[in-house]
Amino acid sequence: MRRLRRTKIVATLGPASSERAMIGRLFQAGADVFRINMSHTSHDKMRELIAAIRSIEKEYERPIGILVDLQGPKLRLGQFGGGFAMVKKGDTFTLDSDTAMGDVTRVHLPHPEILQATQPGQTLLLDDGKVRLTALESTGKRLVTRVEVGGKLSDRKGVSLPETVLPFSALAPKDRSDLEAALDAGIDWIALSFIQRPEDVAEAKKIARGRAAVMSKIEKPQAVTRLDEIMDISDSLMVARGDLGVELPLEKVPGIQKQITRAGRRAGKPVIVATQMLESMITSPVPTRAEVSDVATAIFEGADAIMLSAESAAGQYPVEAVATMDRIAQEIESDPTYRTIIQGQRAEPEATGADAIAAATRQIAETLDLSAIICWTSSGATGLRVARERPEPPIVAISPNIATGRKLSLVWGVHCVVAEDAHDQDDMVERACRIAFKDGFAKAGRRVIIVAGVPLGTPGATNMVRIAFVGSDLGEQA
Ligand code: PGA
Ligand code: MN
Repeated sequence: MRRLRRTKIVATLGPASSERAMIGRLFQAGADVFRINMSHTSHDKMRELIAAIRSIEKEYERPIGILVDLQGPKLRLGQFGGGFAMVKKGDTFTLDSDTAMGDVTRVHLPHPEILQATQPGQTLLLDDGKVRLTALESTGKRLVTRVEVGGKLSDRKGVSLPETVLPFSALAPKDRSDLEAALDAGIDWIALSFIQRPEDVAEAKKIARGRAAVMSKIEKPQAVTRLDEIMDISDSLMVARGDLGVELPLEKVPGIQKQITRAGRRAGKPVIVATQMLESMITSPVPTRAEVSDVATAIFEGADAIMLSAESAAGQYPVEAVATMDRIAQEIESDPTYRTIIQGQRAEPEATGADAIAAATRQIAETLDLSAIICWTSSGATGLRVARERPEPPIVAISPNIATGRKLSLVWGVHCVVAEDAHDQDDMVERACRIAFKDGFAKAGRRVIIVAGVPLGTPGATNMVRIAFVGSDLGEQA
């Protein structure tokens, strides 16, 4: 099975997509990576979802990425009797330390330090800023507020305090236990929420010890300020526009998105653009014009992946949302302006063998109009450097490690195939051609370019380029 686009699709799983059959449909519709949001998922449910994804992976013989998103030090409301409450402008609403179910007058806030730290006059933003409260008085155990902007409050919605200083470490105890459980279950990417400093990322990397790649969600102004250092230590970044748009004025978000996607391309690290991409599809089978345009913008920026949150996790049209992203990506990537825009943002190769070879490979492949670039990559590093070039011909990455294939499923343009290492150069060339042919990347009689580090399996030793004909003995392509 081959995708007809370069931009990858990440679909968040939730109540609307927790059955194996539905996850399979999302994969068929185009989801390359599944995201499990630990704010709303128990360890048992997480393991169940992972088992379902792995069984789909087996069925289709395609590596699938799993991204486990840690809640981070995000403040959330407790629960309501009946799941929600409507609050009106002018109402008094209390946040307190009582674990009883909430109603229109009060709800539990399971963060005692906030009940204490919030001063009268400070603002509280609930559910991504949809509901706004002003603190009136705090007794330590109760924080009485006035509703400035009313609306619906439901279980465990987020709470932001843009004017209150909160002394939190990046990994709350829940995050540590979620991280261990996710690593034990064998996931590929771990996303860190609300990081503020590179040290926050270092802490998670130390625990992960290479068992999963680490993605930093950029959703706080502090992280934007230190973007370069955070990029250096992270394996990838997410433009987490939901909380970014709560913590900063909304009109700042598009510029920050550009800054992050460009930094990611320069560094050769994957960037996901996330949140509200097709928001109206939660309740409608078709998106708005503005949403289509927003998805298109991310694709034109050369983002590696675009993400669905509630659209696939809790919406009425999860499959349609994935299919819509797939269609938009195919169309935009074949637009005549796409190549020039993508090329315009290409960064110079760094002074390494891998980059010199990646750049030369792209040039040879484009000059000779080759059908595909095939890289043998054990850790995925060669695949990442070739993808950084954003070449016109498709990229096929062959790795003996399924973990590499799964990790690369997030990366722009990389079609991953898991196969045993070749035993010599002839075998390497022959098998590369066979795989490209079988997966529909090259017809018999066409040429491909093969990139590898020989001897195979030596990390960081990209040193070989070969142009090869796909043998006509392979027959006509199906
Ligand atoms: P969340 O992160 O969905 O976990 O809040 C994404 C965002 O804030 O945009
Ligand atoms: Mn967030």
